[in-house]
Amino acid sequence: MKAWDVIVIGAGAAGLMCAAEAGKRGRRVLLLDHGKRIGRKILMSGGGRCNFTNYFIEPGAFLCENPHFVKSALARYTQWDFIALVEKHGIAYHEKTLGQLFCDDSAQNIVDMLVKECDDAGVTIRLRSNIDSVASLGEGFAVTTDNDQYSCQSLVVASGGLSMPKIGASAFGYKLAEQFGLKVLPTRAGLVPFTLQPEDKATLEPLAGVSLPVVAESEDGTRFAENLLFTHRGVSGPSVLQISSYWQAGEQVHFELLPAGRLTQGIADSPNQELKTWLSRHLPKRLVDTLLEREKITNKPLKQYVPKEVAAIEQLLAAWPLKPGGTEGYRTAEVTLGGVDTDELSSKTMMAKKVPNLYFIGEVVDVSGWLGGYNFQWAWSAGWCAGQVV
Ligand SMILES: Cc1cc2nc3c(=O)[nH]c(=O)nc-3n(C[C@H](O)[C@H](O)[C@H](O)COP(=O)(O)OP(=O)(O)OC[C@H]3O[C@@H](n4cnc5c(N)ncnc54)[C@H](O)[C@@H]3O)c2cc1C
Repeated sequence: MKAWDVIVIGAGAAGLMCAAEAGKRGRRVLLLDHGKRIGRKILMSGGGRCNFTNYFIEPGAFLCENPHFVKSALARYTQWDFIALVEKHGIAYHEKTLGQLFCDDSAQNIVDMLVKECDDAGVTIRLRSNIDSVASLGEGFAVTTDNDQYSCQSLVVASGGLSMPKIGASAFGYKLAEQFGLKVLPTRAGLVPFTLQPEDKATLEPLAGVSLPVVAESEDGTRFAENLLFTHRGVSGPSVLQISSYWQAGEQVHFELLPAGRLTQGIADSPNQELKTWLSRHLPKRLVDTLLEREKITNKPLKQYVPKEVAAIEQLLAAWPLKPGGTEGYRTAEVTLGGVDTDELSSKTMMAKKVPNLYFIGEVVDVSGWLGGYNFQWAWSAGWCAGQVV
């Protein structure tokens, strides 16, 4: 059995960061992955340009049963630390919107950077390694793969969540946590498009391709001001992906298409204009036609609407209700909500409180961020923290 100081399972964002940091401390590190390529999610992220962090990282942008858990790691390894690393490697980047930072060129730059950090730190990376079993050795762990057997003092699980099974996502980390008696919170898809109820699908499908700025609001009052996109399968766009993480099956989502009071102002400004004409100045015409038809609103000059009708239309525009049929699930989700319960882990080191020298980092943990570079920052921060102590 070959002996290592540290074995990290999962050569994704968190695992690469952790392995490089541990290697820099002189630890002999083996990084295992069952896939053929390193950092496959990084490569496909941000439309191939990797939205690697965000200028506005803050604990409130993360979903976790214990909202305080993320604070320590995010403060110890910040977005500025990761930006400094990116700059040290000469990678050109830009802010797209809302503080989101992307590579100018390609996500491959980020993978190359992390691999270089690992190489410089003497990390050994073995791909195509399927883990058959993990066992406790008292002081450390035995890891058996389909082609070798290893022992290690510290074991780090960085195997990610369930989204995108086609590129190697697996339930490995959750099962391992359970094997060692740790609690795993129920998982579900997050940052994911909504599908529609059959009757909504029939009326809204013709809007496929229509996009507009809205404010999406979940039943718990969380709000995101970003774009809404109608698709052939349902609704998507950043506002929908964001709000999907706060949505539970059976709940409604409301979209503010126009702020309250706009129509009343419109009536005062252009009383002779027809509703359809006025609305089409503010919203995509195809959406206006569909809304009026769906809601059975008669089109007439604005001054002819009685106060009760005005109030109803204002309400519809300020909070258009939609009850999703479901989500597109792990096939297209960007993250997995839920996972290893943070109560089981040290927020400073990510070590399991009950199992010395066993660590969980990245998406496998019950921490998910907003869209916009937050999830990678969690992976870098958690990976870095574990890397200092394993
Ligand atoms: C399409 C898409 C786009 C995204 N874009 C962004 C973005 O732009 N910005 C952002 O912040 N976040 C983005 N995300 C989310 C981000 O990719 C994840 O949050 C992040 O990759 C999690 O890092 P991780 O290291 O925990 O897991 P991963 O990066 O998923 O790495 C896990 C690794 O473990 C390996 N593994 C899994 N099971 C096993 C096993 N049984 N044995 C061995 N190895 C195993 C996998 O092959 C993988 O290499 C995106 C996600 C998707 C799906």
